[in-house]
Amino acid sequence: LRIDVVPMYEEGDGYRGMLFHFQDVTEIRKLERMRSEFVANVSHELKTPIAAVQGFAETLLTGEVKDEETARSFLQIIYDEGDRLNRLIGDILELSKIESRQVPLAFEPIEVRPLIESLFEVLKSAADKKSISLKLEVPEGMFMEGDEDRLRQIFMNLLSNAISYTPDGGRVKLAADILDDEEEEKIRFVISDTGIGIPKKDLPRIFERFYRVDKARSRSSGGTGLGLSIVKHLVDLNHGTIKVESKVGEGTSFILDLPMVQHID
Ligand code: ADP
Repeated sequence: LRIDVVPMYEEGDGYRGMLFHFQDVTEIRKLERMRSEFVANVSHELKTPIAAVQGFAETLLTGEVKDEETARSFLQIIYDEGDRLNRLIGDILELSKIESRQVPLAFEPIEVRPLIESLFEVLKSAADKKSISLKLEVPEGMFMEGDEDRLRQIFMNLLSNAISYTPDGGRVKLAADILDDEEEEKIRFVISDTGIGIPKKDLPRIFERFYRVDKARSRSSGGTGLGLSIVKHLVDLNHGTIKVESKVGEGTSFILDLPMVQHID
């Protein structure tokens, strides 16, 4: 609580009294704290790959690494860490654009099945590498309303997470159904996997920026820890809701409800 005290005077009459101004600054403080935490997190996240790039480059520069295979593996690390920096910066910029509402959205009716099919095509090689089967259960002729690029980004993030966090030989499924007990008709999407799952205590936090259940695992799968917070924002912007259910060792389901289009002219 901030209290400002202002003495009040009136011409001629002189001193009249005090004006007390009470202001609840909890919310402002909270936002300030969140912002500085974010800056601290960003710096930490950027420092790790930079340190790796510098460390390995330095070792190569000393000329002490004579063996070509070792030298190549160091170069590969430098390349990968550069790639990681690129993705991190891309995600950070994306998040800050979304949070400051600088993303122009073009709402239009979008047919669900072709959109998901095109994403499956992109993800097929990643899934094949791990012998993961991709399953699609989406009826024909179903339309949702939203911004196509942003919806693509939402599904892409959820599906690539599902592939990353599912061991070889597993299954990733996307099912869509009409949810008609609501006032406004919605489509319910369930993106489920047979992966490692998320411990109960972590479930409420996974949409937070940079929150990862297992840092090492997220890093090795190329994650930035920002994917789900971007997803959460994009779902909000597209007037949807998202929640998650999971069992460790069994798998995870993301349940995504988005506005449905009933009539296409
Ligand atoms: P990351 O880049 O680390 O994947 P995300 O924001 O996309 O970051 O996800 C946050 C964390 O949530 C991940 O680090 C992982 O621990 C967990 N997670 C997300 N999706 C899944 C999933 N399908 N199965 C298991 N864990 C998941």
